[in-house]
Parts: sequence; C-alpha cells; structure tokens
Amino acid sequence: MYFPRLYPDELLYSGIARCRVHLGISSHKTLLHMLFGDSKVAAITDLPTHLAALANNTGLDTANVIMHHTLFPLYAPFIPQERRTDLFQAMLASDRPTIGLAGASTALVKWPDWLRYCPVCFEDMATRFGEPYWRRSWQIQGIDACPEHGCQLLDSPIPFRRAQRHEFHPASPLFLPRDLRASPASEEAIRIAKAATQLLALEEAQSPGYGRWTNLYRYLATECGARCGRQVRADVIWEKILASHRRGWLTANGLLTSGEPPPWLLAMFRKHRKGFSALQHLIVWTSLRPGQHAGELIDEARTRQFDLSTDRSVQLFPVEYGQKQQYRAVWLQALDSHGGAKAAKQNGGEACYAWLYRHDRSWLIAANQARPHGQGNNSRVDWRARDRKLVRLLIRIGRDGEEDLSLSRRSRNWFLQQLPHRVSVEHHLDQMPLCRTFLDRYTESVGEYQIRRLTAAMLEDIQQGISSRHWELERRCGLENSKLAPIAAAFIRLIGEWVE
Ligand SMILES: [Zn+2]
Repeated sequence: MYFPRLYPDELLYSGIARCRVHLGISSHKTLLHMLFGDSKVAAITDLPTHLAALANNTGLDTANVIMHHTLFPLYAPFIPQERRTDLFQAMLASDRPTIGLAGASTALVKWPDWLRYCPVCFEDMATRFGEPYWRRSWQIQGIDACPEHGCQLLDSPIPFRRAQRHEFHPASPLFLPRDLRASPASEEAIRIAKAATQLLALEEAQSPGYGRWTNLYRYLATECGARCGRQVRADVIWEKILASHRRGWLTANGLLTSGEPPPWLLAMFRKHRKGFSALQHLIVWTSLRPGQHAGELIDEARTRQFDLSTDRSVQLFPVEYGQKQQYRAVWLQALDSHGGAKAAKQNGGEACYAWLYRHDRSWLIAANQARPHGQGNNSRVDWRARDRKLVRLLIRIGRDGEEDLSLSRRSRNWFLQQLPHRVSVEHHLDQMPLCRTFLDRYTESVGEYQIRRLTAAMLEDIQQGISSRHWELERRCGLENSKLAPIAAAFIRLIGEWVE
C-alpha cells in the first residue's frame, strides 16, 4: 500500500503521521489496521515495533528504517552486541517491548517531555518538501539545539510518550508561536547537538561491548592526565567537563543530583558493568576529545589495541623502563645531530618522536624545550625558566614512581638520569635552585631504599598469605646485618615487635 517516502533524518513515527494526512484518513485505528494489520500498535517515537508487519504491507526496507528513521543508533553502540541484536529483533516483532532492551529505563537519562522542533527547519522543509516533519535529532534528551541552524529547539504540544497510545501526530506549522523569534543556542549546546547527529547518521552502529568501552575510557583518562598510578582522578576529568558543560544543564538532565564529581562519571572510568546513555558518552567525548567525530571514537573503542604501557601504573616497570630509556637516548642523539625537534623529526626521527609523544610526553616536551641553543654556549640559556620546567618534570617523575616498590633506589643520580641533557643540568644545578631543593628533599637515602625493599617483600608475603621471619626478609632483600642502615635496622626491630 501507499507509504510516503521518508525524508532525511525523519522519524518513522512522523512518516506514519504524514501517511494518514496524505490518504485523508481520519481514524487512527483504520490507518494502523492498513499499515500493520493490527489496530492496537503503539505509537512509539524512539524505538517503534511491528516493523516486519509494516514492511510486508508497504515494501519498506526494515534495516534502513531502523538505522535512519528511529533512535536505534543512539542506543546500539552502548549496549553489548547480543542486546543490540535482540533490540533489533524486538523492533521487527509484534509482541515485544523495546524500552528495557535499550537500557533506557535504567539509565539516568530520560526522554524529553514533548516532541520538539526547530522553527527555521520548519520553514526550510515547507519550501523544500511542501510540508514539515519530525526530525530524529530534535528528540534526544539533553540536545537542545538544532544541529543545522544552531537555534534553540521549541516544545510542540505533542507529548514524546503518548497518553493516547495509538495516535501519530504530524509536525505542523500551526505549532509556531505568532511572535516567534528563533533564539540562538549556546556553543556547548550546538557542539553536543552536532555530536549526537553524527551518532544518528552512522551507517553501522556496531557495539564495541563493555570490555572495550572500559579500555577506551581508561585510555582517555591517561591521555588527559587524570591518572595517578592505578587511580583515576575523577576530579581532573570533572573539571574538564565543567569547562564545556554548564552545571544547570547537567542538573536539568538528571546528571548532577548528588555530589561532585557525579557517581556516574566515576563509574564510567571504572570497569563498565552496565551501559551508559548516549548523552553521558557524548558529554565525555565533547569534553576530552572536542571536535572528534563520534564515529571515530566508536571505531577506536571497537578496533584499537590499547597499549597498556601508556598506562602510568605499568609504565615504570623494568622492561618498559628500559625501552623508554632507549627511545630517550635515540631522540636526544637526533636532537643533537639535527639541532632541533623539527629537523630531528624530518630526518628520520618521526617514529621515535611519535613513540615518546604517546608514552613519555612530559619528558619529550621538556627535552625539546630545554635543549641548549648552540653547542657549548650556555650563556643564552634561560636557567630560571629551565629550572621551573625541569622541577615540574621531577615532581611528576617522583609522583609516578611513588607507588612502585620495585624501582631501584631513587637517588639523586636516578632522578637526574630521567632528565633530558642530564650532564648539562648537573653542571648548572647551582643556577637551578628549585631542582636543587627538590633533589635535596626527595632523594631516597640508602636506609629509606632498604625499607622500601623490605616493605615490598612483606607485601608479597601478604598477597601469598605467608609470613617470613625478619632474617628471611633481610636475606631476600640482600641486606646482611652489616650493611643495614640504622633507620632500616630500627624498622626491622619494629616489625619484629609487631610480628611476635
Ligand atoms: Zn533547524
């Protein structure tokens, strides 16, 4: 039977409503019976059902309808693959609800109260097609701007979830208020509206699955400097989110109900055990990777092999550590022979640069900036600026290695070795009071180092559920009595009292 051609980004709901108008049928039930062979089909805006029956009667391509004319792509990437398939099947079927499958009922985010529209689009549509229609991208909770015109969306009088469950209402120019002036939306609102539209337009909404989402978010945390050892610093991420999204808007969308940072954000950077809403994902993406296409991020989650060595918690383990030293040495040599980062990159140093950029960025930046201009002529070096830069690097190195009990002694030399151009730094320490103070204060003494090794051995014991005698611990750590520093000896006496 007749069915109007669906317009770009039009909701199937909207097409069905237009169908009734085009055919001049006044009874909703009659139309439903014609389209679905069933007059009790619910008028669902976002995830409609009975699509196999509809396709039978109208010749519509169900896969195309689901991908391009429902809100399916808004849920599909964020639920596991089996649930995605299940949701797809439920939309085809005539006897299965779809809401529970999409995770929409459990997610914090709800749907808008009313079907919404862009007044400027309405005018464009009237000119281009002779009638307005409901676009999908207007009907997403939290999306308040038209992605095309950047103006604020308006509420229509048609509820998103209907009381009269079997009625499909067309978009209508009659909704437009008389004294209408389209008001521009904020930049944040437009940014997130565009990202949501990209999500809707994806041709393939494959689901990466919870495990891969977990990995991507861990990586994002590392990338934005919000990791400290194994801990994710949600406060750092929260700050970035607040820089691009207003508190009032987050509250209005139910995403800021108790404390800050909100619990859902913490959960997102831990292991994913349940799905998060598209809006939650989009908030993080537009804050941490502004400008990146939503499809690229999903692809990254789905296909990228996350190199866990970028994870600071393992970055300093011995093997990685050796590898890092090699790359550092190669890069310093390249810097020296080519006279600068740009030339070094152009002359075969590109790969080395890229590796360091991903794994050891702060060192790389310091190395490039701290490089003395001209061999053997240090008079032009701004030592005060260098002091500030290097002490920041030292603090970071100190903090990164803090929890790693397997590192060798964090001596003055150990710290200096991690700095670019260490020899030059060592020679000019008298001109760098901040670095000097850091080294005086945070260098590990032999005794402190012995205590660290003992602690590591004791932790191993605890993990294996055994307890060693103090002489066993000493021997394992290679600490014969004669070599024990006084402070470590005191430590052992203390453990002795505690164990016995
Ligand atoms: Zn518009």
